[in-house]
Amino acid sequence: MPRIAYVNGRYVPHREAAVHIEDRGYQFADSVYEVCEVAHGFVIDVTRHLDRLNRSLGELSIAWPMARKALTVVMREVIRRNHVTDGLVYLQVTRGVAGRDFAFPSPDTPPALVVIARKSNAATIAKRVESGIKIITVPENRWDRVDIKTTGLLPNVMAKQKAKEAGCQEAWFVDEDGNVKEGGSSNAWIVTRDGVLVTRPAAHGILRGITRTSLFDVAEKLGLKIEERKFSVAEAKAAREVFISSATTIAMPVVEIDGTTVANGHPGSVTLSLRQAFFDVAEKIPA
Ligand code: PMP
Repeated sequence: MPRIAYVNGRYVPHREAAVHIEDRGYQFADSVYEVCEVAHGFVIDVTRHLDRLNRSLGELSIAWPMARKALTVVMREVIRRNHVTDGLVYLQVTRGVAGRDFAFPSPDTPPALVVIARKSNAATIAKRVESGIKIITVPENRWDRVDIKTTGLLPNVMAKQKAKEAGCQEAWFVDEDGNVKEGGSSNAWIVTRDGVLVTRPAAHGILRGITRTSLFDVAEKLGLKIEERKFSVAEAKAAREVFISSATTIAMPVVEIDGTTVANGHPGSVTLSLRQAFFDVAEKIPA
């Protein structure tokens, strides 16, 4: 079954899908993106993802490439054409194609849109949930506007490659005070000895993860308390549980930080109960 991508108005075979060499996403990372989970044939939290897309586009003065409703139709069509029932849908909007110049192109330059979808590997995910993942920490070296979901991800690429080379699955960016910011592609959480969930405030300096937001709803349903505050690497290493969140990992247990085992080295029960309850609580639209 050939994979299909949506590129600027056309559904094309994935292996032939291409964008222009002077697309500003390619030249300047002048572009934003979103990733939604697809689970059991539903797109998860699409309203919140498109709200965040709206914010990212607005902060960078990039126009919507099409009406929001039409974009939802394209996302679902790409999911359908690729027969994805469990996986993800990725969309990217760039400022469009124009001769290379740092300043914005003429306002009539249409933004470019690419949408792709792919299946996830259930066995790999199950294995990671069962064993928990290992992470490393790296100094924060990104720009100040990581609250905007841009494709300018080179520091994240370098950090996650370093994690991979260390046999780990994620890297946490740490600020100059030793406090955890977030992962290369996830938000960071701990569970204290008292069973309180702690995650860094999202007003500034991290991406406000959609899964993070929805986990607030899940925690409320489960009667769990959340504190939005900074926490240090040392506090995380001594926590009862540690986990990361993102659209594709939901709540994923962390069992090792920089070689130090967290708690008893096994995924924690709070993390697993959040993960279990997530699908019921999150917004679902049929794909
Ligand atoms: N932080 C960063 C840097 C990310 O790339 C991601 C994943 N897109 C997240 C947090 C988690 O966001 P979400 O829950 O919306 O996937």
